[in-house]
Amino acid sequence: MLGIGKVGWIEKEAPTPGPYDAIVRPLAVAPCTSDIHTVWEGALGDRKDLILGHEAVGEIVEVGSEVKDFKVGDRVIVPAITPDWRSEAVQQGYQQHSGGMLAGWKFSNFKDGVFAEEFHVNDADMNLAIMPKGMSLEQAVMLPDMAPTGIQGSELARIKPGETVAVIGIGPVGLMSVAGAAILGAGRLFAVGNRQVCVDVAMEFGATDAIDYKKGDIVEQIMKATNGKGVDATIVAGGDSNSLGQAIEMTRPGGTISNVNYFGSGDSIPIPRLAWGNGMSHKDIRGGLVAGGRLKMEQMVDLAVYNRIQPEKMVTHVFDGFENMEKALMLMKEKPKDLIKPVVLL
Ligand code: NDP
Ligand code: ZN
Repeated sequence: MLGIGKVGWIEKEAPTPGPYDAIVRPLAVAPCTSDIHTVWEGALGDRKDLILGHEAVGEIVEVGSEVKDFKVGDRVIVPAITPDWRSEAVQQGYQQHSGGMLAGWKFSNFKDGVFAEEFHVNDADMNLAIMPKGMSLEQAVMLPDMAPTGIQGSELARIKPGETVAVIGIGPVGLMSVAGAAILGAGRLFAVGNRQVCVDVAMEFGATDAIDYKKGDIVEQIMKATNGKGVDATIVAGGDSNSLGQAIEMTRPGGTISNVNYFGSGDSIPIPRLAWGNGMSHKDIRGGLVAGGRLKMEQMVDLAVYNRIQPEKMVTHVFDGFENMEKALMLMKEKPKDLIKPVVLL
């Protein structure tokens, strides 16, 4: 990211590790819709000459003197979020906000990201996980961000077995929310999207009903399908600034609205007063940045290895080499009909 709305290539000094850190050479990376918000909406504010990217798996090329569990040559999964584990926020239970709001998110936010020949990982023992032998790079690179973000959407929604759930947005994040909701036991599961490629995977991941937001108001469609009752929980994993309000409208009193969408523009997000019971509906609005760290990555690995999730099914485009990085990033911006998620092998 050269500046808001501008991308290109840049030469920087190779990173060096501190005593607890590692330097990783990426083997596969993926652009994220968040990179698009950051560059083209300037959602985090101006960033100059910042290397983008926070989804990577790679090989360790250097470790600091105090790193115990990882060595040069290990193939690792690198979480999008790499918190400072020695921080007050971690003791409060919110590793994502160690060092300030959203500051656990370092790559392509506060420091150079992973679209580089080498990148720096703070606190390797706490932030890396071994990539199992035999795991495909396409599957592995869905674990740093897509799987934990989508699944967090379903956790924040506090789904109980048999409950009715709606997922607004079924790009890669929402698809993983569908998978997470199915694991947590959702009964009826609405998937709100448009492009057929996403709808097909949503049905494979456990959705029971597809709702097309281009074919009428989604609140009306879901209220009609639930005989006016609404759903127990709604996960917002895409859409626009009205999506949170729509989620509030389609969720029953006492239900939960979970947000993992990154609202990239505007000063505020509307909450419909009446649908929120004039503030007294007991509808709980929750939202969060994806969790990172070693344990979360190891849990994602187990979900994939034991076939509870199949995130590789979302990889529709695979490129080779840095020379195709920009093409992959622009695909994420343009979202052509056949795209869910591009991956670049390096
Ligand atoms: P995509 O753009 O791939 O998917 C967005 C989805 O929303 C698509 O299914 C799209 O449908 C649908 N959609 C678009 N407009 C509307 C609308 N008006 N109403 C309902 N649905 C709509 O995004 P990703 O899955 O890659 O990411 C989703 C969000 O999650 C992004 O904002 C991203 O930045 C954020 N994110 C958040 C993280 C976190 O830590 N909380 C981490 C990673 C990502 P279609 O394309 O078919 O038209
Ligand atoms: Zn991301």
